Amino acid sequence: MRYLVISDIHANFPALQAVLQDSEGTWDRIICLGDVVGYGPFPNECVTTLAELPVTAVPGNHDWACIGRLDLNYFNEHARAALVWTREQLDSDSMEFLSSLKPVVREDNLTLFHGALTGPITDYILDSRDAEENFSLLQTPVGLFGHSHLRFYFSRGMNGQVVSHSLSQRNSLDLVHRKNLLNPGSTGQPRGGDPRAAYGLLDTEKGLWLLQRVEYDIPGVQQVMEEYSLPEYLIRRLAEGR
Ligand code: ZN
Repeated sequence: MRYLVISDIHANFPALQAVLQDSEGTWDRIICLGDVVGYGPFPNECVTTLAELPVTAVPGNHDWACIGRLDLNYFNEHARAALVWTREQLDSDSMEFLSSLKPVVREDNLTLFHGALTGPITDYILDSRDAEENFSLLQTPVGLFGHSHLRFYFSRGMNGQVVSHSLSQRNSLDLVHRKNLLNPGSTGQPRGGDPRAAYGLLDTEKGLWLLQRVEYDIPGVQQVMEEYSLPEYLIRRLAEGR
């Protein structure tokens, strides 16, 4: 099966559209790793578009805040202000879609979650030590996660040794002898210095993991955020990729 793997769209519809266009014809099914909304100005557009595609999705912390399952005090002031705005915008179909998502999903030898298996909504996997803890909970050859908006590729072999792989565009995964934890980066609010929308393409038959980037209209999104008076810090960081 060929999957388009996206995460942390954060209501950035032009970024989602760019990813869908750029990847057209290269996948059979979509995996969305949470935070469809929050930060950005197009929450309903993102949810509606995803809901109409062949997608398996899990919820993120921002999604849960919008449906009342996570306290707004968990977030910093910028994120919180955007969440208060987002809650007012979300229509009943979007709320229903977000409410229907389960925090951990197993499908086709893949385990999907937003943050980490130790705490699917709010925990992070940021280094080998985090990965090690999560490998002990992972029961499939591949675990897919988001949340940090950063790309990661960890693997653990039969000997228990965890490897943090340096990232290349094209990665061959050993799905037989190793377990793998993969983060595709963020589609709608990329961090790590590159502002282009990030996504992954996973081919489970060939054991291939491709990391992609595509440009989208950042000033256009920033302008809409200005119009809705979303926090200046969030507007600026889109162009910086931080
Ligand atoms: Zn996020």
